[in-house]
Amino acid sequence: MSTVFVPSSASPGVFDVHEIRADFPILHTTAHGKPLVYLDNGATTQKPHAVIDRLSRYYEAGNANIHRGVYELSQKATAAYEEARHRTARFINAAEDAEIIFTRGTTEAINLVAATFGRAFLKAGDEIILSALEHHSNIVPWQIAAELAGATIRVIPMNDRGELLLEEYAKLLSGRTKMVAVNHVSNALGTINDVERIARLAHEVGAQVLIDGAQWVAHQRTDVQAIGCDFYCFSGHKLYGPTGIGVLWGRRELLDKLPPYQGGGDMIESVTFAKTTYAPLPNKFEAGTPDIAGAIGLAAAIDYVQSIGFEDLTRHEDGLLAHATKKLAAVPGLRIVGTAAHKAGVISFVVESPAMSPLDVGMRLDRLGIAVRTGHHCCQPIMDRLGISATTRASFAMYNTIEEIDVMTAALQQIIADEAAKRAKTNGSATAPSSSGAAEVEFPEPAASSPQAAAEELIETFDFLGEWSERYQEIISMGEHLLPLPIAFKTEATRVKGCQSTVHLITRQRPGSADAVDILADSDADIVRGLIAVLQKVFSGQSARQIMAFDVEGFLRRMGLDEHLSMGRRNGLAGMIQRIRTSAAAIAGPENRPAP
Ligand code: PMP
Repeated sequence: MSTVFVPSSASPGVFDVHEIRADFPILHTTAHGKPLVYLDNGATTQKPHAVIDRLSRYYEAGNANIHRGVYELSQKATAAYEEARHRTARFINAAEDAEIIFTRGTTEAINLVAATFGRAFLKAGDEIILSALEHHSNIVPWQIAAELAGATIRVIPMNDRGELLLEEYAKLLSGRTKMVAVNHVSNALGTINDVERIARLAHEVGAQVLIDGAQWVAHQRTDVQAIGCDFYCFSGHKLYGPTGIGVLWGRRELLDKLPPYQGGGDMIESVTFAKTTYAPLPNKFEAGTPDIAGAIGLAAAIDYVQSIGFEDLTRHEDGLLAHATKKLAAVPGLRIVGTAAHKAGVISFVVESPAMSPLDVGMRLDRLGIAVRTGHHCCQPIMDRLGISATTRASFAMYNTIEEIDVMTAALQQIIADEAAKRAKTNGSATAPSSSGAAEVEFPEPAASSPQAAAEELIETFDFLGEWSERYQEIISMGEHLLPLPIAFKTEATRVKGCQSTVHLITRQRPGSADAVDILADSDADIVRGLIAVLQKVFSGQSARQIMAFDVEGFLRRMGLDEHLSMGRRNGLAGMIQRIRTSAAAIAGPENRPAP
């Protein structure tokens, strides 16, 4: 498999992807010793020199608090911050600068509108319409607002391709609808929504419209007035800018009517203990010291993107998507998830033959230097609707190349072939459930005299291995020897929540022991099966009191696992440990439980 990027002679016109790549220092680094192939741009984009340098320059020569100082430096910082607002307004064609509110990101922008709009306008019986394609950050804030007001959430359904059913949407609209909040592009499936039509229909019944533009702004030109929405939100870090800065745009007429979101400095006109009056837009919504550097960095990112030009950028990314779709569709055993007619540069897929957990696919790609996203992408309702728990997702930016897609495709072909060969050798799926019933269940024998002793053995082995890739391999092979968890135990009650993969875990008091805990678990992901084996080796068959006293976080750190596996979010390790500790506490009895 070639990992060398050959300068492409195919780049048309002035858009030269290799020239663009030269602007992004991180693209010339390696991951696990391989050239970095960064395909997780939906999560965050990398930053060009123009942004990095602007941030350094600000901190080296321009840093002061804004809006307050009488001295030159503060006035310069204020001017740069307000200039950033102006550039942002131009970038999305806002009617005026004051309609741009700087936030921490899309999430905070949506929370701001949901909370203040909810307080000002929502009442019992009102309805908020969301779509089946929403990110959790365009669901949960509305659930909170709806609960406070006694309003109801209605959901625009989608078809199997991941397209919203706009005829159904039209039927949901009524005089009760107060807000319609949908994304411009789905981060999980890449669907581009017809936001102009969605806004028009909402306005016909007098509802307001919020568009989550997190996955749009970096890919195509944005014109909030042409869309005809009332609020538009996006994050700087997905637009080649810094993290910690985002934008809420709202129509002045509406923003003026909303109450403040947070109170504090900079958002007031006058304060007395009897009564406070608020500053006009945009300050009313920018309490406290904002992310000054972030806003200035965002403006640098906007300048950079505009210097490339959306016409070329969009054409390039469309080409990447078309190429990736063609290549991945031809990989045997792989199925693309999300096949809408209109898509932006996101391609989600699952490996079905042999069935592989997206987590394993992602981790194996990572070892080849290829960064993709795995999981539900903060879109659990989409996964539920499609009957899957997760996908692997590649998402593109202007600096990605056809060669990188070919590298990813070849890697996937190899990963799938290796897995098929492994399964053939072991005569069946590693995760195939045992046919044994609940009565035949077999738990592992204790691995050592105490959790501490078992941990020491493991630490010694892992210290000897050194490199993460060798440790990873060792964890995977430990997982290959797990005792089976009979299918009868794979129920909702034994499922460990918070895992990217499906995990079931059972415990029992070891027969004939005073307080020993037996542990049996299984997962559809090889890496998680390996982690189960690690936990079993340390804990299974050991005394409940010793389990509770054991410093598991310290142990994971010593194993070098903490930096590679973020607990809870990535693999539910924390969930499994919690289960084991809870069982240990129950078996140890109330007198032995640690104080809460
Ligand atoms: N909406 C969509 C469609 C997204 O993709 C994301 C980020 N994945 C968000 C909202 C949240 O953005 P942030 O985390 O930057 O606030």
